[in-house]
Order: sequence, then structure tokens, then C-alpha cells
Amino acid sequence: MSLIVQKFGGSSVANAERIMNVANIITETYAKGNNVVVVVSAQGDTTDDLIEKAKEINEKPSKREMDVLLSTGEQISIALLAMAIEKLGYPVKSLTGWQAGFVTDSTHGSSRIRRIDKERLNNELDKGNIIIVAGFQGINRYDDITTLGRGGSDTSAVALAAVLHADLCQIYTDVDGVYTSDPRIVPNARKLDVISFDEMLELSSLGAQVLHTRSVEMAKKYNVNLEVLSSLTRKPGTVIKEVVDVEKMLIKGVAKDNNVARLSIIGVQDIPGIAFKIFSSLAAKKINVDIILQSVGRNNTKDIAFTVAADQMDEALEVLDDLKKVMNAKEIVYDDNISKVSIVGAGMATNPGVAAKMFEALADAGINIHMISTSEIKISVLINKEDCNRAVNAIHDAFIV
Ligand code: ADP
Ligand code: ASP
Ligand code: MG
Repeated sequence: MSLIVQKFGGSSVANAERIMNVANIITETYAKGNNVVVVVSAQGDTTDDLIEKAKEINEKPSKREMDVLLSTGEQISIALLAMAIEKLGYPVKSLTGWQAGFVTDSTHGSSRIRRIDKERLNNELDKGNIIIVAGFQGINRYDDITTLGRGGSDTSAVALAAVLHADLCQIYTDVDGVYTSDPRIVPNARKLDVISFDEMLELSSLGAQVLHTRSVEMAKKYNVNLEVLSSLTRKPGTVIKEVVDVEKMLIKGVAKDNNVARLSIIGVQDIPGIAFKIFSSLAAKKINVDIILQSVGRNNTKDIAFTVAADQMDEALEVLDDLKKVMNAKEIVYDDNISKVSIVGAGMATNPGVAAKMFEALADAGINIHMISTSEIKISVLINKEDCNRAVNAIHDAFIV
């Protein structure tokens, strides 16, 4: 008997009709003789709506209370989906994250899973029940509710597949697989039948939200058999696996990230220890820095610019404002009206023409580049947000036909 983990995202359970559709997929899988463990997200825009509700009351609520609030979205979904499966006449139990044994660390809002206590899950499977688990949530060692960060239900699903040694982990979503770029903004995007863990990891971390980055990390680590497919069309999706021996494309995909802010500290002294001071202060506040650019020194001063996630901009600004006084800097400049667009593919470093081709595509589209960063497997540029979709299309069409 096989064990299959199936995850359904927010749009797949957005209303009663979609929930019945999902219930049919689950019970068909069960009726074929499989054990089925399901993970669901909050319905439609529920998580965004809950965030808005919180802001109406308090602009800066504590992260602990945000987790208490946001976890309710998934709790609604598990109950409704279990009711749909009951109606179809199958044995089913819904479980919240903590009932399902998810123990996380205490970083509210972006917790990491420490372990999954399997006892309850195994009991329910032994009884022949279909299990519906609330994604995105767990409990820390103080018995407080935690959440895994936006998009975290994918990680709940892969984690379950790993600890239960599932034969397959299916991520059902609103597109029928992983594409060479977001099919909603790039009409020429191509569906990939297969993609490697490493390439998927880059695409996800550079902004392709189709899979939560940590779910891909975990799938690679525990060698989970992972597939992305649509809950609406019954077609084969995209398989994510270790080695890909199919068609060798140099460029695997183009990703965009709108959750980016650029901060610059202008006119700091051109002496040793300045970068250390800035970035260690940011690290102390757990602020993740991405691209860093330092200007050539002149008149004994220099400028340092860097990017952070837009939702960490305010925290980063507080750190810089404190440093400005200590370091005698001239001014702090910031901008969150920007996007990062990246190309991903193996062997970038050994193909010198790739960067030039990417910049040519942007130049032809009349798009200005603010910052550039390159590595073995990706090239990223920072551009104005309003140019983002045009840039993704221009770059995509230059490399992928
Ligand atoms: P879910 O609610 O099912 O978790 P998400 O909205 O988190 O769904 O992720 C699916 C979305 O990811 C798609 O609707 C698509 O717009 C977007 N997306 C971005 N990049 C890609 C890509 N390379 N391939 C497929 N989808 C992508
Ligand atoms: N509901 C959560 C979110 O919207 C988790 C998820 O959908 O994966 O981010
Ligand atoms: Mg998602």
C-alpha cells in the first residue's frame, strides 16, 4: 500500500465547489488503495484579509498574536474539506498543525519545523482515515502557535512526506506545473516536465512562488518524490528530482521578486570596518541582506547600497538611522518601488555571453538597471517595479523560445 501526501493551495479550496472538487481528487486516490495525508492552505485570499483585519486594529501587532490570527485560515479549510469528504462517505479526520505533531522553533511568522511527532498521524492512518492537516502552522516548545512564513503550506506537505516516508508528494495549485517563468505574466512561458532540485531551489528563492523555497530544500535533503500539478485540469504536472537527464537548456527560467527594497547609506568614511559595522548590525536584527554594492571611494568617503526584503525595510531603516549618527554619514536613501528579475541556469559562469544577452534584452526594451549581481547559477538585476513584467518577458523571450 502506498502513502501519498497531497497539498492543495488557497485557490484550490477557494469556495464550496472547489472544495468538493478537491474532495473528489482525494477520495479517488484513497479508493485506489492508497493511504492519503492531505495538507491545505487557507481559502483564497483569507490570509491577506486577516492581515488587513489586524492592521485595522494595530499597525504593529506582535508576531505572536499575528500567528494566532493567521493560523485560523487553515483551520477553516481543514474542517470544510473534511466535511466534504464525510459527505462522499469516506473516513476522514482533520488535524490542526499541533494535533498533527508539528513542533517548530519560536521565530513567530517564519518558524522552522524542528520535528513532527508522528504518533497521532500513525494512529489515524492505522484506523484507515484520510487525514487533513492544516498547513503553515505548528506549535513551539512553549505551546504557542507558530506559522512557517507566507507560502509555508508547501513546506508542511514536504515535511510530512519526509517523516512519513511517503511514496509521492503532490503539490496541487492553480497552474499545471512549473514553467520557465510565471505563466500569468509571460505568455510564452513553457511548462517543464522535469526540473532539478537545485534549479527549482534557485527559481523559488528568486521569487517564483509556485513552491515555498524551504519545501524544495527539504525535498532535496530527504529525497522526496515531488510533483507540481493543477487541481483543476487533470494533466501530468512537473516532476522535481535530483538528476535531470532530459533536454539541456542553459537557462531554465526567469523569476521576479517584488518584495525588495534598496537602502543606501551615503557619504560614510572610506576606512576599514565600515561594511562590517553596517552588516553585523543588520544581522543582529535578523535582517537578511541580498545584493550589496559599494561605490569607489572619493574624497575619503564612499556609499554603500544593499537590498533587503521590502517587509524588512522599516526595521533596516531603524538600524541605519542609528548608525548614521555614529558613522557621520551624510544621508540614508531608500526605495521599495523596485523589483529583482533573475535568470537561472547551470553553467552561467562558463558562458560569458549570457550576462551581455540579458542586458541587451533590457536595453532594447528601454529598461534601466540599478544593480546587478551574478553567481555560478543566476544573474539578477534590480529595476523599477513598473518595468518588471516587461523585463521578465523581454529576458524570457531572449533566452527561451
Ligand atoms: P497556491 O495557493 O496553490 O500555493 P501560489 O499562488 O502560492 O499557489 O503559487 C502558484 C502561482 O505561482 C501561480 O499562479 C503562478 O502565477 C506563480 N508562479 C510564479 N512563477 C512560476 C513558475 N515559474 N511556474 C509556475 N507558476 C509560477
Ligand atoms: N495561507 C498561507 C499564505 O497565504 C500559507 C500558504 O498558503 O501556503 O501564505
Ligand atoms: Mg503557495
